[in-house]
Amino acid sequence: MATRQHRVDVCIVGGGPAGMLLGLLLAKQGIRTLVLEQHRDFEREYRGEVLMPRFAQLFSRLGLLDYIESFPHSKLKQVEIFSQNETLARLSLSEIYPPHPYALWMPQPIFLDALRQKAETFPEFELWFGATAEALIQENGVTLGVQAQHGEDLVEISAQVTVGADGRTSRLHRLGGFEDAYQSYDFDVIWFSIPQPENYTATAQFYFRDNHRAYLLLPKYPKLIQCGFMTAPGEFSQLRQQGVSAMQNLLLQGPEAIHAFARELSDFKPFHPLQARISFTRQWAKNGLLLIGDAAHTCSPAGAIGVSIALETAAVAADVIAGALAQGDVSERALSQVQAMRQSEIQTVQRLQQNVTRFMFRKANWLMRILPRLAKWAFQLGLAQRFPRRLLVNQSPLPLSDRLVFKPNPQNNA
Ligand SMILES: Cc1cc2nc3c(=O)[nH]c(=O)nc-3n(C[C@H](O)[C@H](O)[C@H](O)COP(=O)(O)OP(=O)(O)OC[C@H]3O[C@@H](n4cnc5c(N)ncnc54)[C@H](O)[C@@H]3O)c2cc1C
Repeated sequence: MATRQHRVDVCIVGGGPAGMLLGLLLAKQGIRTLVLEQHRDFEREYRGEVLMPRFAQLFSRLGLLDYIESFPHSKLKQVEIFSQNETLARLSLSEIYPPHPYALWMPQPIFLDALRQKAETFPEFELWFGATAEALIQENGVTLGVQAQHGEDLVEISAQVTVGADGRTSRLHRLGGFEDAYQSYDFDVIWFSIPQPENYTATAQFYFRDNHRAYLLLPKYPKLIQCGFMTAPGEFSQLRQQGVSAMQNLLLQGPEAIHAFARELSDFKPFHPLQARISFTRQWAKNGLLLIGDAAHTCSPAGAIGVSIALETAAVAADVIAGALAQGDVSERALSQVQAMRQSEIQTVQRLQQNVTRFMFRKANWLMRILPRLAKWAFQLGLAQRFPRRLLVNQSPLPLSDRLVFKPNPQNNA
């Protein structure tokens, strides 16, 4: 087997949202950047597809929102919350973030390809599909690049900075000897899709039921509804053992819209379970090595903000890495600026997610009985809105330098 050598300024492992945005923003600054993506393309089902107002907030700041919105998507403007069959709240996203009063629904393959197309306008950008990082190249405690399998070739990639943007099961997290400061795992979400009925109105719907379960219905581009429901950790495998009727029973306790799907269910193929894990890596940087996105901080699905949070960290990392390269200092101290700028926001969001879900699963029955009424009053008085606002909008906009911003004139982007 041939071993090739390749040299870049920055090697990013993982072509998900965080890795692709970082690659684009570094190449824009004239930094030679290689993104390695183990899959052969961006096609993947059941990934983050709802981009909450945090996304529009960041992308309008970067001057990229109109560009992204020129690709196929739908817009979600209202969230409805039900308890049993009673409406607790109808929340317009204009109450949450008036400048961009919507969430964007864009399949991840379309979003990632949009980032790729933009990045490839810069000669400093390279993306290798079918390239898996397998080992770190290290000397005297400094990371000098990665060894990757790319097709038939083993490639040694030398880089001044190596970035692990390889998701929640990050190999670079393990290879780099990083440790989690904390992890929690309170529930699973079981996802499946159904066709949209005639006259369907695109809203996000949350249903809370007496059985301590929440069911979630989201419009899925172009003509589907993505449905999810919460189960205790590992409960999905018990349901499989109990058989289709146990699953049907659970679905029939959910909203009317999923009942026809439940009745016709014949096997477990439609379901995709997701472990709702929260984790936070104690220190994201070592000499020449940095973790970003889910590899550094995994959020729970509560609020559907994982992609936006990963993108925010990528944008901050683009500034910090460019500064570190310009100073010729890619030490742990220099790269840990990324964490210093992001830690407080991410930990606040993670605490809020934990509190909401633990409340739902652990509280006493008497409280669950009066909770819907309390929640309804709180929404009517405008008190409860601050929770979704805190999750869906970044309260302290990121300090990003002008170098990252795309100007309206495409001739003027470099
Ligand atoms: C089922 C599901 C539904 C979700 N729904 C939402 C949602 O609606 N909204 C939302 O905001 N968030 C959602 N999330 C969370 C969101 O998908 C993640 O937070 C986000 O994708 C993190 O981005 P990332 O770039 O850090 O990691 P990822 O998106 O996980 O990307 C990591 C990439 O690294 C690649 N990779 C891994 N190892 C290697 C290697 N050794 N070499 C090369 N490449 C490698 C992977 O193939 C992958 O492409 C959901 C997550 C799941 C699982």
